[in-house]
Amino acid sequence: MTQNKPAYYDENNIFAKMLNGDIPHHKVYEDEKTLAFMDIMPQAEGHVLVIPKQKAVDLADLEPEYAAAVLMTAKKVMNAQRQVFAREGIIQMQLNGAQAGQTVFHYHIHLIPGSIHELGVHAAKMADNDKLADLAQRLAAVIDTP
Ligand code: 5GP
Repeated sequence: MTQNKPAYYDENNIFAKMLNGDIPHHKVYEDEKTLAFMDIMPQAEGHVLVIPKQKAVDLADLEPEYAAAVLMTAKKVMNAQRQVFAREGIIQMQLNGAQAGQTVFHYHIHLIPGSIHELGVHAAKMADNDKLADLAQRLAAVIDTP
């Protein structure tokens, strides 16, 4: 554990508030154990986050059933991104600890259509709300709901 990692799960983190329904998000997919939604400050068009419905700060906390569930949802989202953006290249990224650059302390996988050589700055620029809504709808339309 790094010095910068919170010692416990913060119930008021932004993704916990999303899971509680306290703040809105542009949903791409949801099932019993996971939620996928558009990143509000995308590093490329179509940047999606996948989170478990488990109070995990980072990978160290993730229980096996939720680890499996987030990866299965990540596969669904990636397949949808490949269809919608007609491209093969999708970056899968996940940060553990503030030292690595993690800014929201609820475990999440980033899925970013693009190339590592062209990636935008991390969590830097807010996207247009209508654009995110449209992208979420297009991605959700090609994912089978449970
Ligand atoms: P981390 O730095 O923890 O790996 O990534 C956190 C991600 O959450 C960033 O890419 C950032 O843009 C995104 N993010 C931060 N606040 C919000 C929010 O309120 N809504 C959404 N949809 N994404 C957020």
